[in-house]
Amino acid sequence: MKKKTLTLSEALKKGENLLRESKVPNARLDAFSLLSFTTQITRTNYYLEPNKELTLAEEHAYWKRIKQRAKRIPLQHITGEQEFMGYTFKVNDKVLIPRQDTEVLVEEALSVLTGSEKILDMCTGSGCIIISLYKLLEEKGLKPEGSFTAVDISKEALKVARENAKRLEAKVTFIESNLFENITDKYDMIVSNPPYIQTKEIEALEAEVKLYDPALALDGGADGLDFYRQIIRDGKKYLNKDGYLLLEIGYDEAEEVMNLLKEENYSKIYMKKDLSGLDRIVGGQLQ
Ligand code: GLN
Repeated sequence: MKKKTLTLSEALKKGENLLRESKVPNARLDAFSLLSFTTQITRTNYYLEPNKELTLAEEHAYWKRIKQRAKRIPLQHITGEQEFMGYTFKVNDKVLIPRQDTEVLVEEALSVLTGSEKILDMCTGSGCIIISLYKLLEEKGLKPEGSFTAVDISKEALKVARENAKRLEAKVTFIESNLFENITDKYDMIVSNPPYIQTKEIEALEAEVKLYDPALALDGGADGLDFYRQIIRDGKKYLNKDGYLLLEIGYDEAEEVMNLLKEENYSKIYMKKDLSGLDRIVGGQLQ
């Protein structure tokens, strides 16, 4: 006799329960994501046929994924992808998982770009910022004629970023470099989401972030500002006149980062909040 497998709704309930016991935030949502990743079921189809049985292979794969998530492995490391600005990016534990907060940085950049600028993304990680800029300029009909360059200190991160650029057909030049060390050109815009968490705060972050996002992408030194100091000071040598510097910041860093820009004589310094109302972006222009 054929062994009975779980139905979609039984699988969802069982997965949700295990995730809840393991204190995973959003247990039901994550269980559904893993169910839909495993079976390709859409939300609508789930509600149309909740009693459809999983195949045995699906049941095994789903349960394996649920157990990984119960260990607090981020959903994105299990599925291997994260959506950002409407594009799907490959991710692994060598890059920071793209955050929705960072979309504000892309929107800010887009609000001034015309398509002909030379842009540098410092600390690119998965490449999500520079690749989205390329794609969105293209979609706006502004043929990206400028240049798109991205830097990271991590070879492994650059491997992920290069793969993303290839998959999404974005023409980006990637450079392995400790900040500006291997940079020789000048740019019209530098964008960056550098590591900005205070070293002592890392311990207090959610398990998913603390254990699975690369520490290299989080740790901004004792006061969290190490990378801003260097990018703001050295960025001046790599920006053209009137060039923009746009930085993602931690929610409590706006004043200090704006002061750093002032001290280095940037002009038109401003701050922009994210969708949750937290300070998120600081920008300025080189005079
Ligand atoms: N926004 C990330 C977090 O809160 C940190 C990213 C960064 O340090 N650039 O976990």
